[in-house]
Amino acid sequence: MSRVRLVLAILAIAVIATAGVLAARTLLGEHAADTAAASQTAPANTNGRIPDDRLVEIETGHRLIAPAADAFAQLKQAAHDAGHDLSVNSAYRDLAEQAKMIDLYGLLEDGGRAAPLGESEHGDGTSVDLTLNTEALMWMREHAPTFGFFETISGEPWHWTWQAG
Ligand SMILES: [Zn+2]
Repeated sequence: MSRVRLVLAILAIAVIATAGVLAARTLLGEHAADTAAASQTAPANTNGRIPDDRLVEIETGHRLIAPAADAFAQLKQAAHDAGHDLSVNSAYRDLAEQAKMIDLYGLLEDGGRAAPLGESEHGDGTSVDLTLNTEALMWMREHAPTFGFFETISGEPWHWTWQAG
């Protein structure tokens, strides 16, 4: 084989190899884009990332997803009629707010009070933390389930979560 032919053969091999790598990269790139698009619509990933248009204000600065907000409005009215005014300390929390809670109160697994990022019921827009005196707490335990609200965390009598019937 002449020197020129040898060089040409090496060049040809290099071109074929480069084309193969580029083709593989294109396929991988397209697959990665599909995966990213799928994760944006997956309900499992919405904790702490609920779009504003799905949230309704229940008190200044506190929001729940629409069906939970409707149920809470009815619960609050019924409580009011029975002589108990429910005041909200916390409701929906986005990921940034949950990160702040972790900083302030520590993670549950470390003996703190905050759920891990993306796992708090507050990130689902279905939980409220309420200020309740003893009478109001007793009223809630008797009547809140009628409105779909349940005490879901033992040792946190202020924390009530709406569960779709
Ligand atoms: Zn809570």
